[in-house]
Amino acid sequence: MAPDPAPAFACDAMMKGLARWLRACGYDATWVYGIDDDVLLESAARERRIVLTADAGIMARRAVKQGRPRALYVPNELPPREQARRALAELHLLLRPARCMGCGGELAAVDKESVRAEAPPRTFALVDSFQRCQRCGRLLWRGTHWQRIEALRRGLAAAGPELDLAP
Ligand SMILES: [Zn+2]
Repeated sequence: MAPDPAPAFACDAMMKGLARWLRACGYDATWVYGIDDDVLLESAARERRIVLTADAGIMARRAVKQGRPRALYVPNELPPREQARRALAELHLLLRPARCMGCGGELAAVDKESVRAEAPPRTFALVDSFQRCQRCGRLLWRGTHWQRIEALRRGLAAAGPELDLAP
Protein backbone atom coordinates (compact mmCIF):
# COMPACT_ATOMS: atom_id res chain seq x y z
CA MET A 1 0.00 0.00 0.00
CA ALA A 2 1.33 3.43 -0.93
CA PRO A 3 1.82 5.79 1.99
CA ASP A 4 -0.71 8.58 2.34
CA PRO A 5 0.39 11.74 0.57
CA ALA A 6 1.42 14.53 2.92
CA PRO A 7 -1.42 16.88 3.72
CA ALA A 8 -1.29 20.42 2.36
CA PHE A 9 -2.42 23.46 4.29
CA ALA A 10 -4.14 26.77 3.64
CA CYS A 11 -3.32 29.44 6.21
CA ASP A 12 -5.70 32.28 6.90
CA ALA A 13 -4.75 35.91 6.23
CA MET A 14 -3.17 36.35 9.67
CA MET A 15 -0.92 33.29 9.48
CA LYS A 16 1.96 34.24 7.19
CA GLY A 17 4.61 33.17 9.69
CA LEU A 18 2.93 29.82 10.23
CA ALA A 19 2.85 29.15 6.49
CA ARG A 20 6.61 29.75 6.27
CA TRP A 21 7.24 27.46 9.22
CA LEU A 22 5.15 24.66 7.78
CA ARG A 23 7.12 24.91 4.53
CA ALA A 24 10.39 24.68 6.48
CA CYS A 25 8.94 21.58 8.17
CA GLY A 26 8.28 20.07 4.75
CA TYR A 27 4.61 20.80 4.11
CA ASP A 28 2.97 22.72 1.30
CA ALA A 29 1.13 25.71 2.76
CA THR A 30 -0.60 28.58 1.02
CA TRP A 31 -0.86 32.07 2.41
CA VAL A 32 -2.40 34.98 0.53
CA TYR A 33 -2.29 38.56 1.81
CA GLY A 34 -5.78 39.76 2.73
CA ILE A 35 -7.51 36.64 1.40
CA ASP A 36 -11.27 36.68 1.85
CA ASP A 37 -12.61 33.95 4.15
CA ASP A 38 -14.98 32.59 1.51
CA VAL A 39 -12.21 32.39 -1.08
CA LEU A 40 -9.92 30.72 1.46
CA LEU A 41 -12.50 28.08 2.35
CA GLU A 42 -13.58 27.40 -1.23
CA SER A 43 -10.05 26.99 -2.55
CA ALA A 44 -9.05 24.85 0.44
CA ALA A 45 -12.03 22.56 -0.11
CA ARG A 46 -11.27 22.32 -3.84
CA GLU A 47 -7.57 21.58 -3.29
CA ARG A 48 -8.20 19.39 -0.22
CA ARG A 49 -6.07 21.60 2.01
CA ILE A 50 -6.45 21.77 5.76
CA VAL A 51 -7.31 25.32 6.82
CA LEU A 52 -5.31 26.71 9.73
CA THR A 53 -7.02 29.68 11.31
CA ALA A 54 -7.20 31.79 14.44
CA ASP A 55 -10.69 32.93 13.46
CA ALA A 56 -13.45 31.40 15.59
CA GLY A 57 -15.92 32.60 12.96
CA ILE A 58 -14.32 30.34 10.37
CA MET A 59 -14.39 27.38 12.77
CA ALA A 60 -18.13 27.97 13.32
CA ARG A 61 -19.01 27.83 9.62
CA ARG A 62 -21.35 25.02 8.67
CA ALA A 63 -19.08 23.81 5.86
CA VAL A 64 -16.10 23.64 8.22
CA LYS A 65 -18.12 21.73 10.81
CA GLN A 66 -18.94 19.25 8.07
CA GLY A 67 -15.27 18.91 7.22
CA ARG A 68 -15.42 20.68 3.84
CA PRO A 69 -12.76 21.92 4.17
CA ARG A 70 -11.17 20.41 7.22
CA ALA A 71 -9.92 23.15 9.57
CA LEU A 72 -7.80 23.41 12.68
CA TYR A 73 -7.88 26.27 15.16
CA VAL A 74 -4.47 27.77 15.95
CA PRO A 75 -4.21 30.50 18.60
CA ASN A 76 -2.96 33.70 17.01
CA GLU A 77 -1.06 34.83 20.11
CA LEU A 78 1.44 31.97 19.84
CA PRO A 79 4.70 32.52 17.95
CA PRO A 80 4.65 30.90 14.47
CA ARG A 81 7.11 28.19 15.49
CA GLU A 82 4.82 27.06 18.31
CA GLN A 83 1.81 27.28 16.01
CA ALA A 84 3.55 24.95 13.57
CA ARG A 85 4.61 22.55 16.31
CA ARG A 86 1.07 22.33 17.67
CA ALA A 87 -0.53 21.86 14.26
CA LEU A 88 1.89 19.07 13.31
CA ALA A 89 1.54 17.38 16.69
CA GLU A 90 -2.24 17.55 16.60
CA LEU A 91 -2.30 15.90 13.18
CA HIS A 92 0.46 13.39 14.12
CA LEU A 93 2.73 14.63 11.34
CA LEU A 94 6.49 14.25 11.19
CA LEU A 95 9.10 16.61 9.89
CA ARG A 96 9.70 16.12 6.17
CA PRO A 97 12.43 17.47 3.88
CA ALA A 98 12.20 21.26 3.88
CA ARG A 99 10.29 23.01 1.11
CA CYS A 100 10.80 26.47 -0.33
CA MET A 101 9.88 28.93 2.42
CA GLY A 102 8.80 31.49 -0.15
CA CYS A 103 6.17 29.43 -1.95
CA GLY A 104 6.00 25.90 -0.49
CA GLY A 105 7.34 24.18 -3.62
CA GLU A 106 9.45 21.04 -3.42
CA LEU A 107 13.23 21.43 -3.56
CA ALA A 108 15.44 19.36 -5.84
CA ALA A 109 19.22 19.10 -5.83
CA VAL A 110 20.92 20.75 -8.80
CA ASP A 111 24.37 20.15 -10.20
CA LYS A 112 26.85 22.69 -8.88
CA GLU A 113 28.35 23.49 -12.29
CA SER A 114 24.91 24.37 -13.64
CA VAL A 115 24.58 27.31 -11.24
CA ARG A 116 28.06 28.80 -11.70
CA ALA A 117 26.71 31.93 -13.41
CA GLU A 118 23.69 32.26 -11.15
CA ALA A 119 25.11 31.82 -7.63
CA PRO A 120 27.02 34.66 -5.95
CA PRO A 121 30.73 33.98 -6.64
CA ARG A 122 31.68 33.74 -2.98
CA THR A 123 28.85 31.33 -2.29
CA PHE A 124 29.77 29.24 -5.31
CA ALA A 125 33.32 28.96 -4.00
CA LEU A 126 32.24 27.89 -0.51
CA VAL A 127 29.14 25.77 -1.03
CA ASP A 128 28.82 22.39 -2.71
CA SER A 129 25.14 21.62 -2.33
CA PHE A 130 22.54 23.65 -4.24
CA GLN A 131 18.81 23.11 -4.51
CA ARG A 132 16.15 24.66 -6.66
CA CYS A 133 12.48 25.20 -5.89
CA GLN A 134 10.48 23.21 -8.43
CA ARG A 135 7.63 25.73 -8.27
CA CYS A 136 9.13 29.24 -8.21
CA GLY A 137 12.63 28.43 -9.47
CA ARG A 138 14.44 30.05 -6.56
CA LEU A 139 17.99 28.78 -6.01
CA LEU A 140 18.88 27.79 -2.43
CA TRP A 141 22.00 26.49 -0.83
CA ARG A 142 23.12 25.26 2.55
CA GLY A 143 24.36 28.56 3.87
CA THR A 144 23.77 30.35 7.12
CA HIS A 145 20.06 30.82 6.44
CA TRP A 146 19.69 27.09 5.90
CA GLN A 147 21.58 26.29 9.09
CA ARG A 148 19.22 28.54 10.99
CA ILE A 149 16.23 26.70 9.58
CA GLU A 150 17.77 23.34 10.45
CA ALA A 151 18.48 24.49 14.00
CA LEU A 152 14.91 25.72 14.38
CA ARG A 153 13.57 22.45 12.99
CA ARG A 154 15.62 20.49 15.50
CA GLY A 155 14.41 22.76 18.29
CA LEU A 156 10.85 22.29 17.16
CA ALA A 157 11.21 18.52 17.15
CA ALA A 158 12.81 18.55 20.59
CA ALA A 159 10.15 20.86 22.00
CA GLY A 160 7.45 18.23 22.05
CA PRO A 161 7.80 14.55 22.87
CA GLU A 162 4.71 13.90 20.75
CA LEU A 163 6.50 15.20 17.66
CA ASP A 164 9.09 12.69 16.52
CA LEU A 165 12.11 13.77 14.54
CA ALA A 166 11.94 12.13 11.15
CA PRO A 167 14.96 12.10 8.82
ZN1 LIG B 1 9.54 28.41 -4.29
